[in-house]
Amino acid sequence: MNAFSRRGACPALSAPMQTGDGLLVRLNPVAGGLAPKSLIGLCESALRHGNGIMEVTARGSLQIRGLTAESARLLAAEVDVLGIAVRSGVPVETGPLAGIDPQEVADPRPLADRIRDAIDDAGLTPRLGPKVSVVVDGGGQLGMDAVTADVRLKAVRAIAGVQWSVSVAGDARSARQLATVDLDTARDIVAAALRMVAEKGRDAHTRDLSEYQLASLAGRHSFAPPSVLPDISPTRGEISSFAAGSHPAASLPIPTSEIGETLRDSAISPLVGEMSGRTEGGAVERHRLPIGLFDLTSTLALGIALPFGSMPARNLIELATQAANLGTTEIRLAPGRALIFLGLSAPSSLQAAATAVGFVTDAADPRTRIAACPGMPACASGRIATRSIAETIAKQSADLFDASLTLHISGCAKGCAHPGTAALTLAGDENGAGLVVDGTAKALPAGYRPGYDAARGVAGIAAAIRRERHPGETAAACLARLGATDIAELYRRN
Ligand code: SF4
Repeated sequence: MNAFSRRGACPALSAPMQTGDGLLVRLNPVAGGLAPKSLIGLCESALRHGNGIMEVTARGSLQIRGLTAESARLLAAEVDVLGIAVRSGVPVETGPLAGIDPQEVADPRPLADRIRDAIDDAGLTPRLGPKVSVVVDGGGQLGMDAVTADVRLKAVRAIAGVQWSVSVAGDARSARQLATVDLDTARDIVAAALRMVAEKGRDAHTRDLSEYQLASLAGRHSFAPPSVLPDISPTRGEISSFAAGSHPAASLPIPTSEIGETLRDSAISPLVGEMSGRTEGGAVERHRLPIGLFDLTSTLALGIALPFGSMPARNLIELATQAANLGTTEIRLAPGRALIFLGLSAPSSLQAAATAVGFVTDAADPRTRIAACPGMPACASGRIATRSIAETIAKQSADLFDASLTLHISGCAKGCAHPGTAALTLAGDENGAGLVVDGTAKALPAGYRPGYDAARGVAGIAAAIRRERHPGETAAACLARLGATDIAELYRRN
């Protein structure tokens, strides 16, 4: 193991991580977004030094792969020359429309800045593991509910003004709520929680805190949750669940899954996990995907996703060039493997150009329901060509993917792209593409097909659903009714 290779580490620009196809770096601009010409410059660097593929992860980080130790250094130098300041230290993440969304409850950036300062003042960064993170969610059209974090803060409207709901260890559904407090107390709770984690060592997370510690954090509670006002924004829903228990720290179980997994597998979307092949953390789709138009009052933002989180750098250069020509001032990275274009004069023109070069421009695109790791040949562990299988299935069996059904295609049993269960999983091994029904990539497959022919097996399942489905029945319910044995037989024999 060299200095680059610690699995599970955060592969920042200064500390690339070894993967099956060389070194990988992950970067997040401090500003949250890039000017089109900066993104073009970055893509050109990736073409010169990496494998020419750009990736955006489920948490909204930019990734470049296929680097060597030397080319990673050259890339880092070029990022400097481009003037792109990249984030370092404990990630304190805000949503992609933070500060510009007229529907957000509060601009989360001032609180995020204060938390960063508190972390710096306490010297916590070197004492915390690379995957410890904080989410500060101001609400609005593109919230951060799907992103897991050690500590999450969500703005809520209350009689006393904006307050912050504080919870730990999970995404919006699985995290354990501690308190609803004012901004200063929220910052103090985050700092205290991270200090407690640091005391437990660099492998620790908030899920490792004791009941006593959680109670002491919740004890800083300075605001009564029943005073929280109903959220009238279109993205409401979180507040009622947060407010349901007056003192949830005393009643809810602390999640035991890894950050990056969800505890409610049936609700997992393909956005869960590190879509581009390495676990960075999870994301669960329950709210609006970052795809399509977002109203910013006097202008529109356009969200465009990368299929399965990756796209050749040349295509991204083409898109960013078109975006610049159409007046784009900034391109923000968004959780859900997407880019948000700001300042556009003609969003529909960019949407059409993006569709033409293979980007995902429609939230109903079946590719948003498929999780696929890089697989073969990008990853040395890959036994099947995950992404080409995924593309074929998305084209041939598009009607399989209603909102209920998720498909995970994994190059091997590791299951990087989707750690939890999926309705259907194809996992590569020495026997080909194994089918797992309602399980994870690690489970024993119920049937096999050769990897090159896996899409035909899935087409057989799709045809059966078409035939057998009752009126109003979801694809997932139909699959459950058919049963794992019959589904495996359909997969094998088609
Ligand atoms: S699941 Fe296996 S093949 Fe896919 S990226 Fe992870 S290690 Fe590689």
